[in-house]
Amino acid sequence: MVDLATQYQKIKSEVDTAVISVMESTSFIGGEKVKSFRENLERYLQVKHVIPCANGTDALQIAFMALGLEPGDEVIVPAFTYVATAEVIALLRLRPVMVDVDPNDFNIDTSALREAITPRTKAIVPVHLFGQCANMEEIMRIAEEYNLFVVEDNAQAIGSDYYFSDGRKQKAGTIGHIGCTSFFPSKNLGCYGDGGAIFTNDDDLASKLTMIANHGQSKQYYHDLVGVNSRLDAIQAAILDIKLNHLDEYAAARRRAADYYDSRFSGHPHILIPARNNYSTHVFHQYTLRITNGKRDALKEFLSFNQLPCAIYYPLPLYEQKAFRSFIDEVRPLPVTEILCKEVISLPMHTELDPSRQDVVIDKVLEFLN
Ligand SMILES: *Cc1c(COP(=O)(O)O)cnc(C)c1O
Repeated sequence: MVDLATQYQKIKSEVDTAVISVMESTSFIGGEKVKSFRENLERYLQVKHVIPCANGTDALQIAFMALGLEPGDEVIVPAFTYVATAEVIALLRLRPVMVDVDPNDFNIDTSALREAITPRTKAIVPVHLFGQCANMEEIMRIAEEYNLFVVEDNAQAIGSDYYFSDGRKQKAGTIGHIGCTSFFPSKNLGCYGDGGAIFTNDDDLASKLTMIANHGQSKQYYHDLVGVNSRLDAIQAAILDIKLNHLDEYAAARRRAADYYDSRFSGHPHILIPARNNYSTHVFHQYTLRITNGKRDALKEFLSFNQLPCAIYYPLPLYEQKAFRSFIDEVRPLPVTEILCKEVISLPMHTELDPSRQDVVIDKVLEFLN
């Protein structure tokens, strides 16, 4: 699905030098590299504060710890997403309320979101799924109307630009009160281990998030809040600082690969190519087709049999996951989420694809469906 080996070979000398310099400095936690990456990411995202942490799930957890919510408060999430989004909410004894998504861009359906609001609703988590943004303008309007926090799960869309109707643009993850991302190796900006970060333009939230990520500490050995220990280590920061310079070029490579897939799949009677919404740039964390003739599972088996990679993101709606049973009074299937879980299939998508590599997969998909 990804080719991190070839990508590494192209930046090997830069990365190796940076990693060795961390080892020689023995400044493994915090220090110059973490500071430099933090500042460079703030500049790239045009956001006031970046708080690095240990992974994307921690980023979400720390975000929710900082909002001061009460057990039982409701947080609206899309039902079609990775488990982490709702997991941290449940972990903090908040209540994840799962709503349906848009059949075209797979992101939270803003009318379903509006209908799910109750007096207990305190926050919304738009997930910018597969690399393009949810309808942030409408989501921010709803949040303002009902006085809700917005925590963007930007683990899959770092680098995407969101365009407001007045022409302004802003980076994904910097529009809500807090944005969260993951630097898991296969993410668009991936390190060589685990990593994550939290973004905010709010100074008070930034100092609270920073404290929570560091044992709730205000100054050394003085702990004002119950926090966690969640750090991005210096080796990962050094690698990320180099890869950040390539992020836009990586997104362009992903987009070129997506365009080529589109050109070969569009118009096929049983394939829906991924729609691109008109308010954000798609950075194609995943290239996800819908197979509409009921043969998605058989296609997956056929590709696997031919030793070609593919993946189902995601096979089960959040409300069907056993983990969330006690958080849901009555499971009401959501029509779009149900269909997507049965129809989606993601094909190899990374920075090192070219048409000849893609053709091998494309030809097999077409052979099977024709
Ligand atoms: C990857 C991912 C996360 C979690 O990130 P980790 O670094 O693996 O903890 C959260 N949300 C979404 C949508 C993701 O894709």
